[in-house]
Amino acid sequence: MQQAIDLQPDAHGNYGPYGGQYLPPHLKAIMDDIGRAYLSIRDTEAYRSELNDLYTHYVGRPSPIYLAKRLSAHCGGARIWFKREDLNHTGAHKINHCLGEALLAKHMGKTKVLAETGAGQHGVALATACALVGLPCEIHMGEIDVAKEHPNVTKMKILGAKVVSVDRGTKTLKDAVDSAFDEYLRDPEHFFYAIGSVVGPHPFPMMVAEFQSIVGREAREQFPKQAGKLPDVVAACVGGGSNAMGLFSGFLNDPGVRLVGVEPSGVGRETGKHAATLSYGKPGTLHGFHSYLLQEVKEGEPDPVYSIASGLDYPGVGPQHAYLKDIGRAEYYAVDDAACLDAFMTLSRLEGLIPALESAHAVAWAMATAPSLGKDADILVNLSGRGDKDADFVAEKLGL
Ligand SMILES: *Cc1c(COP(=O)(O)O)cnc(C)c1O
Repeated sequence: MQQAIDLQPDAHGNYGPYGGQYLPPHLKAIMDDIGRAYLSIRDTEAYRSELNDLYTHYVGRPSPIYLAKRLSAHCGGARIWFKREDLNHTGAHKINHCLGEALLAKHMGKTKVLAETGAGQHGVALATACALVGLPCEIHMGEIDVAKEHPNVTKMKILGAKVVSVDRGTKTLKDAVDSAFDEYLRDPEHFFYAIGSVVGPHPFPMMVAEFQSIVGREAREQFPKQAGKLPDVVAACVGGGSNAMGLFSGFLNDPGVRLVGVEPSGVGRETGKHAATLSYGKPGTLHGFHSYLLQEVKEGEPDPVYSIASGLDYPGVGPQHAYLKDIGRAEYYAVDDAACLDAFMTLSRLEGLIPALESAHAVAWAMATAPSLGKDADILVNLSGRGDKDADFVAEKLGL
């Protein structure tokens, strides 16, 4: 008998050696406060039914599972299926945790919700959730991402959020995190920092994973009804790791199902322009938690990172993934920009599905792997978001 995998952290938020709270005492106290508030409402009928009601009638859950026949035939081998998180309201999986976080902030009587955003997807999802529950929202975003993802910036403003353009450092995701965190520190008792993935100090990796677990629960129920069996592989792109954790969590204790996380190798490891934390990093501490960290330039310091997909360029990764990698339950691979762009175009033209550049990394891995798995195999890919936000960027890049 294989031992069941339980991804509940211990009382201090540790997943094996990873996770935790690497914070000064006063911030640790505030995180503990959030953790207690969350645990006290998590299982109440009122909170659960409010969240589930929003998932159904506001987000449009359950998201379907779709067999991509033409893409599968094109690749020649395993069937490729998609969990359609791209169909959610706001266009990605992030609304799943933003609603949970906004409801929690409201319940705790917080006066402002703050966050960073990369591609702008977390910002739009959070601004949406805050508009819905009636809380002020402030989003910090790197200057480069503001320019690249302009439609999302406009949406956040329409939704009533304040958007802060961050021009320090690499002007991308990591610096946006630092900037938003500085603002948060001005009044952590009244502000709520809504972290956008399974990263940061405990209880955020746990909470965000639980909010996203709806994806895996649905998929575990849906897939056998459509395919007659479980998938052989479930795959998802990994930035911080929330959409991957959501899907993985439904299949953790199905030993026959491989769990595959796909990271961005950008323009190649040797160039330093990538963000493949689990593939090329090693244990370290960042933003209040311990996990794998890219620290090749200077030991202990996060590397400047890059990905064609703004939502993936983060030098750390969720502690659950670090743990799953070490115990050998999940595998992690890296896919470069060129393969990502090819998958983006191929999926668009063969299936009429324009994927987010983030999701296209997982699609690229599935396309490359399908031939070696044989015709009876099934790969379920989390299509974490849609690519409307990336359409202009890709068209320009490819000269369309
Ligand atoms: C933000 C984002 C990601 C990366 O975040 P994870 O926490 O790793 O899931 C992936 N896909 C889309 C569409 C995103 O918006």
